Amino acid sequence: MPGSTARTTDDHRARSRAEQTRLARLHALTPTEQELIRIANLPGFARWVEQIRATGGCEHPIYLSGSTVTRDASGTVVSAYSTADEPGERLAVRCRNRRASRCAPCSYEHQGDTFHLVRAGLTGGKGTPAVVREHPRLFVTLTAPSFGAVHRATGGEPCRPRREHDLCEHGRHRGCPIAHTHDDRVVGQPLCRACYGYIHHTLWNAHTGELWDAFTRTLRRRLATAAGIPRSRLRDHVTLSFAKVAEYQARGAIHLHAVVRLDGPHGPQSTPPAWASDELLGALVPEAASAVRVYAPESEAIGSYILRWGTQLDVRPLRSFNDGRELTDDAVAGYLAKYVTKSTETAGATDTRITHRSTIDLLPVTDHVAAILRTCWDLGGLSELAHLRLRPWAHMLGFRGHCLSKSRVYSTTYGALRAARADYQRADGGPRPDDTDLTTLSTWRFAGQGHTLGAALLAAGIAEELATNREIAAERMWLDV
Ligand SMILES: [Zn+2]
Ligand SMILES: [Zn+2]
Ligand SMILES: [Zn+2]
Repeated sequence: MPGSTARTTDDHRARSRAEQTRLARLHALTPTEQELIRIANLPGFARWVEQIRATGGCEHPIYLSGSTVTRDASGTVVSAYSTADEPGERLAVRCRNRRASRCAPCSYEHQGDTFHLVRAGLTGGKGTPAVVREHPRLFVTLTAPSFGAVHRATGGEPCRPRREHDLCEHGRHRGCPIAHTHDDRVVGQPLCRACYGYIHHTLWNAHTGELWDAFTRTLRRRLATAAGIPRSRLRDHVTLSFAKVAEYQARGAIHLHAVVRLDGPHGPQSTPPAWASDELLGALVPEAASAVRVYAPESEAIGSYILRWGTQLDVRPLRSFNDGRELTDDAVAGYLAKYVTKSTETAGATDTRITHRSTIDLLPVTDHVAAILRTCWDLGGLSELAHLRLRPWAHMLGFRGHCLSKSRVYSTTYGALRAARADYQRADGGPRPDDTDLTTLSTWRFAGQGHTLGAALLAAGIAEELATNREIAAERMWLDV
């Protein structure tokens, strides 16, 4: 029958057209899309998604291979885990980078931990007694001094009003009539780089830790003097504790924001003496800060530098409840937590380590930051400044400290917060690592880090979904209040 033959041929043609279209579509896919399809078809894909979900959608997970076996006193295995059954025989764990520019999900978690760590020291919780909120507590901001005039955002006022022909020795204007906004890229840049004190600035950043130590020493001495007790007996009366974060200003200098608290002689649980008041602490902090002098190492090449805090100083008492005038504990904890996910990027710098002076020219940084990097590199070559390790820390503009540091008794630790979270997530009721009579033998090895392009897209999707879930949960909590 001619009719049916024709139909069969038509069907065949239609099928082959559909096949061609399908192949053409596949070819039209980008390599990443093709990889997405390949990953999704891999055996163990569902488990891989579970792993990435457990890392919160970490952007650069570390892959580990190995096993852990826990036995009781008789040698019986009570729990065992091995990556042998995992996809690719490896397990993804968080990169734990605190910087939002490196890994948004891990920095979010670190920010949350910082919030709880700072808040516990203000209102109690996580092992710190609630009575700390009755103790004298201040929120203090210590700044760097001026190293030379920089453009600044002054809320609609001219940047640096001067007479028109007021020029520096390099023929540049000492004034700037422009009203810069905060996002203006020129903010933080010197009016004249030749006039700017780059050596002073770099040495200052490199001594921020020493300046802070000198500040707390001076504050303790002044507290002892005010109370009329010998400095060596101060610990029998009060304990000074703190948590502080370092923030890079637009000009690349460090600011320190700190919570300073006075406890009794036995730490947070003991009452400070009556003389240790908010008012006394508030009066002594500015005195101590302005009295501090740190002497940079003598150097024939650069001369001698005396380092001190800037005159801009902010000291505010803290209150647990907002009466409209004072800072609340939660506001301060949130404020400090915000800074730990940021670093030199606020100063237009990069977090790339400098391995050779010539590579500085190739970095996507401002001319001002490049000048600080070159100063770090050059000073780093002087033997008398070797201990400042300015070359390995050049990318941090000479600052070697941790973004957040605290005194031992202030509150809990990041480690304790992570351990508490791990316990909470161990929903299977398995043995706790601190159970006595149990021995755990673990062997782990590094099995790679990071995602392929396709896997990175999937992880980003997971991170976004988790973030949305968090937002919905936060809204629900808000509605329940
Ligand atoms: Zn991460
Ligand atoms: Zn200006
Ligand atoms: Zn000049």
